[in-house]
Amino acid sequence: MKVNLILVFLLFLSLSVLSQEKKYDRTLKLMGSRFDISILASSENEANEYIDSAVSEIKRIENIISSWDKNSETTKINNNSGIAPVKVSEELFDLINRSIQISKITDGAFDISYASMDKIWKFDGTMVKMPSAEVIKKSVEKVGYKNIILDYKEQTVFLKLKGMKIGFGAIGKGYAADKAKKLMQNKGVKAGLINASGDLNCWGKQPDGQSWKVGITNPLNKNKIFSSFDIDDRAVVTSGNYEKFIQFDGKRYSHIINPKTGYPASGIVSASVFAAKAELADALATSIFVMGTEVGIDMIDQLNGVECIVIDNKNKIHASKGIQLKKI
Ligand code: ADP
Ligand code: MG
Repeated sequence: MKVNLILVFLLFLSLSVLSQEKKYDRTLKLMGSRFDISILASSENEANEYIDSAVSEIKRIENIISSWDKNSETTKINNNSGIAPVKVSEELFDLINRSIQISKITDGAFDISYASMDKIWKFDGTMVKMPSAEVIKKSVEKVGYKNIILDYKEQTVFLKLKGMKIGFGAIGKGYAADKAKKLMQNKGVKAGLINASGDLNCWGKQPDGQSWKVGITNPLNKNKIFSSFDIDDRAVVTSGNYEKFIQFDGKRYSHIINPKTGYPASGIVSASVFAAKAELADALATSIFVMGTEVGIDMIDQLNGVECIVIDNKNKIHASKGIQLKKI
């Protein structure tokens, strides 16, 4: 009887300790983007320790995949295009391998070798006119995932054509969000949410027991959301052209480029993809822009456990089969 009472007391005590966990948030700039990290922890010190470790993890990844950093493994691959295969870490090798798989799923709409085209498109407001058709046509010469040669035995990556480049702009933030989540889960953090400028991944529940929520922004009014979703242990990634874009003759072009034509994608305002991993969701959201609404949603409908919401440039909302839009 006494033992039972003690057990009940201990159970009660541990429950009350558990329920003392609070949400701690930090916002910072990483990988050139805003990151919002929220986690549950039992003290501010503990939360800081966990978030610090997530931040180091994201920085570590940035050091591998950055195309700006002269010493990154990615830069070494790019500097050796058309010259020689480069031995890389298993982590980067696997990421490139998965990127190529996504290129196959999306019929080349997603292609990390888009990067040699960044010479002709600038999305920082400095472009005043559309490049000529000739220049655009020439820009795709060095683009094509089939020319990324992986040697599994040697763990090397070779870009076949001189001047070819790879870049992780459309998948890197998602990958970093996944890795930071995994690291914190391994450390025992029961719940959290990582939002890398619209690349979001979460696990567990909020302190009040509710699921994490994500709102899809109304394109007509950026401060309003038109639908909100409960998300549990899942990623949601939104690619939008309302942040980085160029405009010529009243037509808006996004910073996502069609690897086959060399032209920036147009026609879609935002694409949100729901998937188990932010990495896949990130790459697919980018792909939908290139594929267009209909083809893009059709592709998503064929993938298990993946859903999407697309808003076209007429502000019409489209969704994959498994989505029920809950108007709020
Ligand atoms: P964001 O999260 O910045 O809105 P995305 O995840 O859609 O955007 O990624 C867009 C970035 O991906 C571009 O800035 C560029 O670096 C890169 N990119 C552009 N076109 C492609 C493409 N077709 N395939 C892969 N990466 C691309
Ligand atoms: Mg993306």
